[in-house]
Amino acid sequence: MGVMTGANTVGTDRDGDVAAFSRDLQDKGFLLTSTEDVINWARIGSLHWMTFGLACCAVEMIQMSMPHYDVERFGMAPRASPRQSDLMIVAGTLTNKMAPALRKVYDQMPEPRYVVSMGSCANGGGYYHYSYSVVRGCDRVVPVDVYVPGCPPTAEALLYGLLQLQRKIRRTGTLVR
Ligand code: SF4
Repeated sequence: MGVMTGANTVGTDRDGDVAAFSRDLQDKGFLLTSTEDVINWARIGSLHWMTFGLACCAVEMIQMSMPHYDVERFGMAPRASPRQSDLMIVAGTLTNKMAPALRKVYDQMPEPRYVVSMGSCANGGGYYHYSYSVVRGCDRVVPVDVYVPGCPPTAEALLYGLLQLQRKIRRTGTLVR
């Protein structure tokens, strides 16, 4: 009898799960799982995000990527090319002029791709909601998976948002998105 793993069992009591997993693996020497679970596990552990800062929120995004927070331990690393990115963090005010470029970058990302909207401006226009030049939410241009509130959200809030995205992928991830 091998070790059974499943997407729904992971994350409830993570430490307990890991301990049980290690014990059973040492005892039996093999594990049983599904391809979908393995692929989702790999996706969660390799969320490479596109470096795409639009305004002041980008400073907090940069702060989040500094050694103090060590996001690499969650498998997240910045990439300079959309073709190698799984995640776009929309960090800042999206103007009408910039919207086509944002969409083009998103279109160049391979599937499955995810979007985190960071801050009031990206979430709904923020202070500039009634401005003639600002998009009232980046979800009018790209589909958003997680919204992080704040002006600006702290680096900790963004990191929490990314962990929520990992939970969402774990819960809803399929082979074909
Ligand atoms: S939400 Fe606040 S901090 Fe972020 S881009 Fe808008 S004005 Fe700047």
